[in-house]
Amino acid sequence: MLSIFNTLTKRKEIFYPIHFNHVNIYVCGVTAYDLCHIGHIRTFLTFDIVIRYLKYCGYQVNYVRNITDIDDKIILRATQNGENPYQLVDRMINAMHLDLDALDIIRPNYEPRVTQHISDIIIFIKQLINKGHAYIASNGDIMFSVSSYKNYGILSHQKIEKLRTQSRTSNNDQIKENPLDFVLWKMAKPNQPNWPSPWGLGRPGWHIECSAISCKELGNYFDIHGGGSDLIFPHHENEIAQSVCAHNSPYVNIWMHSGMVMIDKKKMSKSLNNIFFVRDILSKYESEVIRYFLMSSHYRSPIHYKEENIKKSQEALKNLYIALRGTHPTTFPINEGKVFIDKFNKAMNDDFNTPKAYLVLFELAHEVNKLKSERSTKMHDIATILRYLANIIGILKKDPDSFLQNSFLQKQNTQNCDITLIEKIIQKRNIARKNKEWNVADNLRDQLLERGVILEDGLEATTWRWIDI
Ligand SMILES: [Zn+2]
Repeated sequence: MLSIFNTLTKRKEIFYPIHFNHVNIYVCGVTAYDLCHIGHIRTFLTFDIVIRYLKYCGYQVNYVRNITDIDDKIILRATQNGENPYQLVDRMINAMHLDLDALDIIRPNYEPRVTQHISDIIIFIKQLINKGHAYIASNGDIMFSVSSYKNYGILSHQKIEKLRTQSRTSNNDQIKENPLDFVLWKMAKPNQPNWPSPWGLGRPGWHIECSAISCKELGNYFDIHGGGSDLIFPHHENEIAQSVCAHNSPYVNIWMHSGMVMIDKKKMSKSLNNIFFVRDILSKYESEVIRYFLMSSHYRSPIHYKEENIKKSQEALKNLYIALRGTHPTTFPINEGKVFIDKFNKAMNDDFNTPKAYLVLFELAHEVNKLKSERSTKMHDIATILRYLANIIGILKKDPDSFLQNSFLQKQNTQNCDITLIEKIIQKRNIARKNKEWNVADNLRDQLLERGVILEDGLEATTWRWIDI
């Protein structure tokens, strides 16, 4: 039985889909004004794992992740760059796809841009006005009336009175009936993108897009809504208020939030100037290493981004590949696999606990290594289970040789060395060994070691990998 931590109830709950065997999931996507950073990837990878695992459990999954393509930040950045906001958005969306694809992060079934849903947003706002949950402020903006929804604060577990005191310093309080009220539709400013509406030319506020798009694509009430934990308040709190008030229906069954990425014990943020962009990280590390690293902490815990921790992940992944090396896939060994598969499922059923799932992978790798040393052909069966389980969470998908000999590991070695040269020296050494010239063979092995290369003499052939870092 899969259990998932629900931010709304603050406990793990057994997951039952609303519609038999079918899971509808919505995740808040990027605002397309800059490149993706490690924080985005943490959230999207969390839901990549959720979706992969739900599919493995036999569910049909419908995954929607929006793109905010109209927003103050986009307009500001485009003006700074001297480009059209639409050009900026297109560039950033292409860059995002390149980065996420490089990390093998599952694409949503539907990835709507907000500007494709302006009419749905307008219909939604009309419903809120008609039901007395929204009003026209003195500057013409449409505001949501927080005091019209008695459960406001239900997701972030905050009392409305406390929130009211905290938000009293806001700039445009004078136009609001209540300082917590938030904008649904903004009146157009000169030379900014705008759309016609019953209230004049304007554009949507941020929170309304996710309520309107999720309702259109997944219905009034759906299974899972996710995002980074920084979105709990106010974004997701406001979404609940809008959707519940518009439809008199519960909005989401389970709210899932991924933890923050920490840099030197501080949150990663633009204001601290400690942002790490995905493409910079990908230029230094193999994509599976980044994936492995981000799953090495439970998705709800903060993760500490530092070189040392990524290198530890690289080392761990390398050890798994070393176990797989020299093995070949067999017909799936159900009997041998059962104990391990049960353990793996138990870990993942416990709120997608990837660190616990890793322990099962290492148990399997240990078993493979033991069988290898005993020269038992059973090693191929156990390796097949290892690869099968690892693939469920998107790792060990590469050929072991190409991972262990890849250029990322080479780059980190002090000695630069050409692969053809390595292979030439190995051939020479093979001839020396055949002729029982042990001194020559040992000398050639040392030459390679000096170049950062370790040789492993297997049953059938000698393989090599870059030295441990
Ligand atoms: Zn959202």
